[in-house]
Amino acid sequence: MTALTNLLDFDPAQLVAYCGELGEKPFRAKQLQRWIHQFGASNFDEMTDLAKSLREKLAGRAHISAPAVISDHTSTDGTRKWLVDVGNGNAVETVFIPEENRGTLCISTQAGCAVNCRFCSTGKQGFNRNLSVGEIIGQLWMAEFELRRTKGIEPGPKGERQITNVVMMGMGEPLLNFEPTVTALKLMLDDNAYGLSRRRVTLSTSGVVPMIDKLSKECPVAMAVSLHASNDQLRDGLVPLNKKYPLHELMDACRRYLEFAPRDFITFEYCMLDGVNDTDQHARELVALVKTVPCKFNLIPFNPFPESGLKRSPNVRIKLFAQILMDAGIVTTVRKTRGDDIDAACGQLAGEVQDRTRVQERMQQMSEYQKKFGPNFGKITEIK
Ligand code: SAH
Ligand code: SF4
Repeated sequence: MTALTNLLDFDPAQLVAYCGELGEKPFRAKQLQRWIHQFGASNFDEMTDLAKSLREKLAGRAHISAPAVISDHTSTDGTRKWLVDVGNGNAVETVFIPEENRGTLCISTQAGCAVNCRFCSTGKQGFNRNLSVGEIIGQLWMAEFELRRTKGIEPGPKGERQITNVVMMGMGEPLLNFEPTVTALKLMLDDNAYGLSRRRVTLSTSGVVPMIDKLSKECPVAMAVSLHASNDQLRDGLVPLNKKYPLHELMDACRRYLEFAPRDFITFEYCMLDGVNDTDQHARELVALVKTVPCKFNLIPFNPFPESGLKRSPNVRIKLFAQILMDAGIVTTVRKTRGDDIDAACGQLAGEVQDRTRVQERMQQMSEYQKKFGPNFGKITEIK
């Protein structure tokens, strides 16, 4: 028997082609896509406006399956974190962050990451594998309809949308898993799927220059660039990819991207590391570096982990650093912690859950880390 095709793996054009192979007209693909991505249907029997013969045909050769949820925790502030199984003992995180006027979903694109940034525990775990389209879009599919089920909101375009923004800021480097990431982006933007505007979908990259250009042509969405350093020497040591694509090339790529981008600025993420990249001098150097790139800064207080040998900058230092950027006319925000009562961190925990049977041990380890590094260790951070 041939393996069933997962329809979550198809972008709109591919679904049209697939339906074509079954002898169906393109509008059938649209109907099918709405059932999947607007109604969260996983059972062909539900798709009542499709002919019974087509439903039977589909049931015999296709399925609609997101990766399995291993754990699901909701914080008292509404932040909800799922750990999803992507096979072979690998798991990735998906985090929902509700705010007054929007709901943001943070999704992962790879299990592990090959870039190996010094301050990132995802990087420290190494690269496991690229996620498939179905595993990437499946995080949005699962989260949107799970959130609706929890709140008793009906599926379909009439029910209130729970996820209004998506950020690719979970595990992995999205531009090193380019094709599946772009296919998933296309579904997020498609009117017969999630219909999100390009401005509400943000891709975060450590700076894969050629792929930034490729994205600008194939699917420009809002762009966040993980900068973390004000000069090449410093960045070479923090983000090894800098040796391949140094800062002047990265800044040029940002400028080129802005010609296509849905927003007229790049968001620079900057992880605040005590005594490493957080002095006044670094801030002034940054101002000069980004002078010709319209941008905003998002300062991320470092989430420490023991192997890193790094510490979080004190709050007062972060404030002074932000002030220098703001005095130079750059809009600057500092991420604040969320999800206080669930163990969750931006791209930090999934590395530790590779062995999912040792939950107790990990919880114990987490509380030890928190004793050592303060109660904010391992907490979700978000943009203020
Ligand atoms: N690989 C992409 C996207 C995932 S990482 C990238 O690097 O941009 C998302 C963000 O979390 C990045 O800005 C990254 O630098 C930041 N991050 C990683 N480890 C962190 C840590 N320990 N503390 C705070 N931020 C961290
Ligand atoms: Fe990979 Fe991003 Fe972590 Fe760097 S910060 S190791 S690019 S996930």
